[in-house]
Amino acid sequence: RTVYVNGEYMPETEATVSIFDRGFLMADGVYEVTSVLGGKLIDFEGHAVRLARSLAELEIAHPISKEDLLEVHRELVRANEIDEGLVYLQITRGSDGDRDFAFPDPDTPPTVVLFTQNKPGLADSPAAKRGAKVISIEDIRWGRRDIKTVQLLYPSMGKMMAKKAGCDDAWMVEDGFVTEGTSNNAYIVKGNRIITRHLGNEILHGITRAAVLRFAREAQMEVEERSFTIDEAKAADEAFTTSASAFVMPVVEIDGVALGDGTPGRVASRLREIYLDEMRRAAV
Ligand code: PMP
Repeated sequence: RTVYVNGEYMPETEATVSIFDRGFLMADGVYEVTSVLGGKLIDFEGHAVRLARSLAELEIAHPISKEDLLEVHRELVRANEIDEGLVYLQITRGSDGDRDFAFPDPDTPPTVVLFTQNKPGLADSPAAKRGAKVISIEDIRWGRRDIKTVQLLYPSMGKMMAKKAGCDDAWMVEDGFVTEGTSNNAYIVKGNRIITRHLGNEILHGITRAAVLRFAREAQMEVEERSFTIDEAKAADEAFTTSASAFVMPVVEIDGVALGDGTPGRVASRLREIYLDEMRRAAV
């Protein structure tokens, strides 16, 4: 694979980052994942805007213009011949060659790394046809989940707890209310009404969430942005999640309780179709 590190393209075997990098030592960095369908980027603009916000919230200098970032994404997709897959981008605070809790001098250049992941069949996923089974776990993450940091240990553990329970993913619960999935935003459907948690510091402001809610409203579906409990979710007609890498994913079971008839719901399936159609059309 050809990867990108700090202004240069190179084979992955030649790419290196300092052992003092704060991304490595302190999870002091942010990331974005952009899907590629038909060799084009899905919602690049949304990811670029959120990246700028994450960096600003952490006072990490924005080291690359949006135009250059787009060019790097496109070049990696071209060089690696990605038809369906992902582009991963990570920017960390870099390092001044030592370990210290205090941030290094503001002139220290951030570390910028991008690589691709080839995922043939990403859009036509068998998992989406089956629907996901989720378990609920306590949300014990930090309080700024709106910043897309590389601090992903707990979500990763949550995913493993789900696997050990024979399920696909975990929904995290705080004070009885669902926050989000380990790597996606969570929704329930009651009749024609789509319910998803309101934005705040408690969840990541999903790029896919914003697009899906817009399409839902355009299709005259009712959307309610509010907290819902895990018990309300188990009693819902259907449920689903959204993320840039899995689009709209139906959820068919929560903590062993089947939703509806235990197959992907009508609303989730329709939204997946609309999302993929519209986003393919707008891809760059
Ligand atoms: N919440 C969390 C915790 C996530 O990790 C992700 C995916 N990165 C999402 C939500 C979905 O966000 P997006 O639609 O921008 O991929």
